[in-house]
Amino acid sequence: MPQIETIFNTQKFTKKDRDLIAQAYDFAKIAHNGQLRKSGEPYFVHVFTTAKNLAEIGMDSTIIAAGFLHDVLEDTEVKEDEMRQVFGDEITNLVLSVTKLGTVKYTGIQRNVENLRKFFVSIADDMRVIVIKLADRLHNIETLQHVRPDKQKRIALETLEVYAPLADRLSMGKLKGRLEDAAFPYAYPQEYEKTKILRESRTDTAMPELLKVEKNLKKIFNDYNLKNIQIDHREKHLYSLWKKLEKYQMDINHVYDIIAMRVIVKNIEECYLALGLIHGTYKPLPGRIKDYIALPKPNGYRSIHTTIITDTGSIIEIQIRTLEMHQEAEYGLAAHFAYKENINGNDEKYAWIKELRDAQQDETNIDNFFKNLKTDFFHDRVFAFTPKGEIINLPEGGSVLDFAFNVHSEIGMHAEAGEVNGKYAKLDYKLKNGDVVKIIINKKINPSSKWLSFVKSSIARKHIEKYLKQNSLLSRLLSFNQK
Ligand code: MN
Repeated sequence: MPQIETIFNTQKFTKKDRDLIAQAYDFAKIAHNGQLRKSGEPYFVHVFTTAKNLAEIGMDSTIIAAGFLHDVLEDTEVKEDEMRQVFGDEITNLVLSVTKLGTVKYTGIQRNVENLRKFFVSIADDMRVIVIKLADRLHNIETLQHVRPDKQKRIALETLEVYAPLADRLSMGKLKGRLEDAAFPYAYPQEYEKTKILRESRTDTAMPELLKVEKNLKKIFNDYNLKNIQIDHREKHLYSLWKKLEKYQMDINHVYDIIAMRVIVKNIEECYLALGLIHGTYKPLPGRIKDYIALPKPNGYRSIHTTIITDTGSIIEIQIRTLEMHQEAEYGLAAHFAYKENINGNDEKYAWIKELRDAQQDETNIDNFFKNLKTDFFHDRVFAFTPKGEIINLPEGGSVLDFAFNVHSEIGMHAEAGEVNGKYAKLDYKLKNGDVVKIIINKKINPSSKWLSFVKSSIARKHIEKYLKQNSLLSRLLSFNQK
């Protein structure tokens, strides 16, 4: 059985905190007694890990307790009233909301709109519910090997398209990366393998060079009396690497941050000082200096990024930030909980939550709500739908032809045109979120090289290239025979 000390060791808890956590631990252990997960492990291991995930990202004892109890009402004999008596309204209401959220599934259009909407309404109510749900999903996705294969794919896609963007929006970078990397191999197995090999090949050559630069910079910072600077590095998460590669036709030479160095300093002044010292030593790559301290990203991310060229021609991205910025980037909302800041609507950074809450109150305008939500949350993907309501997820700028290939390769190979929301559209017509698309097929049509000039998805590109290659080989053979 997992030990409660593991959780106590994650933070400095008061006696009162410990008592509450211990009470929830015992309660959940008894309630789930005898239940097993598909892996054969006791069910309690799942709720324990959920609570531990929450403790590790700095959540308070109330949220950790709710983490322990999050499956009790749904999966055990314990009744709501009993939980209310023992743990009070706040924790019980959190558990009820998490349970309600658990019924949300990612499927066709109608349910999708509804469900996503419910999903966000509950965030607006209480963001802690989302954080618990993310911690719960993290353990589920990290133990996905025990689930039926057909369910694996659905859960993985749901994680990538609903949960991870939420973690991103709450600027919980660490959680987002773990969710995505655990889901990636189940959602897109071949792309996962390919990306993994590409990353390895690149890290193998770049790492020694990076370590050399790291050592040199440490010395330079020290000479300029910049003390207590932390320098380390990170490998780019596989899923975000793949998404970037997709934009560049899988050409890894366009990606500069496969491994990036991190320089963590005391204050903002030192960020710029460090930047100056770095540029004084290594040439920066033009156009690659980004000051997200002066201009933070929409999710609140702050850092200075620069890319430098070493004497031997290696290219290395360096991210400079304060410790506070670093913690915000890794734990986001959680870091704020840890600082016990009031984030209830007054913090400008979380104003979008208020906007969502306001938008969803306009009951008559689900369409608008959906559109805003989509453009806001899934800004680099387009979600279009088959006439049956099946959701097709395309890269930004995806066309009717991309849609056809993503439905089925045979449909793509013989696509003539489309009908978008009932109107005729050419193959290169760019789709928007929420478009309903019907493909017009003509068996006489075959892929042409012109198609390559506008398709955006790798699956379409792959099929077209394969066809063109086979075809040119065939025509060469035919002309040879005629001689
Ligand atoms: Mn659960």
